Amino acid sequence: MSIQVKNINKSFGNFIALNNVSLNFPSGELVALLGPSGCGKTTLLRIIAGLETPNSGSIVLDGVDTSLTSVRERQVGFVFQHYALFKHMTVFDNVAFGLQVKNRKERLSKEAIAHKVHELLNLVQLDWLHDRFPAQLSGGQRQRIALARALAVEPKVLLLDEPFGALDAKVRKELRRWLRKLHDDLHITSIFVTHDQEEALEVADRVVLMNKGNIEQIGTPDEVYDHPATPFVYGFLGNVNLFHGRVDGPNILVGREKLQHDHSNEMAQGASVLAFARPYELELSDIETTTDGVIAKIDRILVLGLNAKIELSALSEESSTLTPQFYEVEMPRADVNQRGLKEGQIVRINPSYLRI
Ligand code: ATP
Repeated sequence: MSIQVKNINKSFGNFIALNNVSLNFPSGELVALLGPSGCGKTTLLRIIAGLETPNSGSIVLDGVDTSLTSVRERQVGFVFQHYALFKHMTVFDNVAFGLQVKNRKERLSKEAIAHKVHELLNLVQLDWLHDRFPAQLSGGQRQRIALARALAVEPKVLLLDEPFGALDAKVRKELRRWLRKLHDDLHITSIFVTHDQEEALEVADRVVLMNKGNIEQIGTPDEVYDHPATPFVYGFLGNVNLFHGRVDGPNILVGREKLQHDHSNEMAQGASVLAFARPYELELSDIETTTDGVIAKIDRILVLGLNAKIELSALSEESSTLTPQFYEVEMPRADVNQRGLKEGQIVRINPSYLRI
């Protein structure tokens, strides 16, 4: 089912939770709503589900305006962060409950319900736990059962609100791979809310970046990571190194130091620019042998498994900022040792790839 969000506005008192939000989700996509706490992700999800009414705007499902459609008629499945399983029911009964609600009019036979429940439990690979109670399950297992129950109503849209938010890092990682695979098998249009950028980038077909009730950018994980549309997006999607400079022929001048940039010739001479590079896109070179690059001091070298993170502070004078400028570089640990990099050493930083 395709979802169109059209000019949605939502306020709570004087507080604007959603500011004229419009989005289009084609049928079968897995979309992440990503943004900091309080940016309006859950509110948007609840409005799509019909659990919350917008002040203005509309939700169109498969071309049909849903203004007058009830939650049930929208055929959405919901999974929340905190497992909403019934404590006094077994896993089997929890999933069967979803089917009984759906089929209250049709009255499925007991055998048909049992068959369907086992099918759903097999889908989430937990049929062997069918007679346990929620308290006897791990957090990850409970979320998979919650998903099986949401799927019982054969939803056309699946809405997941921080489904793995309460789980530890390792289980989260496993479950997000599992969710991706499940989505690839079922092709149900799915929207999941997260404030974890890694989760969004790893799992989603498309990522919607939200900030203070506004959409900052919509794109594939590669698009938003490599071509962030706004300073908020590049700050939010992982670490970034900023260079405040101005265009000088084929270079960007940062203070008095030159950084090469492939496209600076296409920009107005002297224009001030904010360029950036990810930590793995910075190269460190010897101060005596190179003439280009920002001069910085290595403050700290942190070894994390096979990689090293190097924190530096700028010694070059920046053109448009008075605050101290810090940089972060990532490289294989072996390179640090091989090149004899040491804390306190003065080096030049050159981006291998610089975006503006
Ligand atoms: P989180 O990641 O913390 O869940 P979120 O991005 O999902 O955040 P929302 O839950 O959509 O954010 O809330 C957006 C803003 O609207 C928040 O500032 C919140 O305090 C406010 N808000 C949400 N629901 C209500 C309500 N019923 N009454 C008043 N304010 C509300």
